[in-house]
Amino acid sequence: MPNEREMIVIPKSLIKDNPNDFALGSKVREYYYNNYEDQSEPPNQWVCKYCGRDTSDIEYDYLQGTDHLECILKTNL
Ligand SMILES: [Zn+2]
Repeated sequence: MPNEREMIVIPKSLIKDNPNDFALGSKVREYYYNNYEDQSEPPNQWVCKYCGRDTSDIEYDYLQGTDHLECILKTNL
């Protein structure tokens, strides 16, 4: 169960620099995740389901969804 009394400290500048409450909300959230949450990377969604390799840096032209076009073609031969 989460500790309800657990607190975070945010810089005054976040509030002063963000007169818009909506923008402030997203900045606070971002600050919180950058400073208080586990820094482990979120699971990588960019993985080819055929070969299991990372496709996050592949040109869109060579992908179908997150899979290599090459792998899809090879599989369907
Ligand atoms: Zn692949």
